[in-house]
Amino acid sequence: MANHKKMFRHPLKVLLVDDEVGYTNVLANRLQKRNLLVTKAYSGQEALVALRSEDFDVAIFDLKMEDMDGLELLKIAKKLLPSMPVIVLTGHGSEQAAREGIELGAFDYLTKPCELDELLQKIYQATKNIDINR
Ligand SMILES: [Mg+2]
Repeated sequence: MANHKKMFRHPLKVLLVDDEVGYTNVLANRLQKRNLLVTKAYSGQEALVALRSEDFDVAIFDLKMEDMDGLELLKIAKKLLPSMPVIVLTGHGSEQAAREGIELGAFDYLTKPCELDELLQKIYQATKNIDINR
């Protein structure tokens, strides 16, 4: 896989939502090293606060969270920010939920734990048509 550092010359705003705090922090650090501006949310409620207060170029949602089903969050996000692409992360064996996510408008899904390069590639695909002069 190519080096994705070259892909993100413009700092895209990413909302990363996952209730596994350690996993989220590690992933956020890795994405930030690739010139992405990451806002972390550790619950569906935190994600909603973020989505209501600012715009993001792309969002990454864990589908299984304590306080809110990731699919519920996806429905709300699609109403608030219809054009924001959402990548959903699903546990192994929960691909059915991921497919429901696609039907609800998710850009694509990845099975956790996903490779960083896979995620970077999806982020790139999801955002390549964004006008960076916004
Ligand atoms: Mg979870």
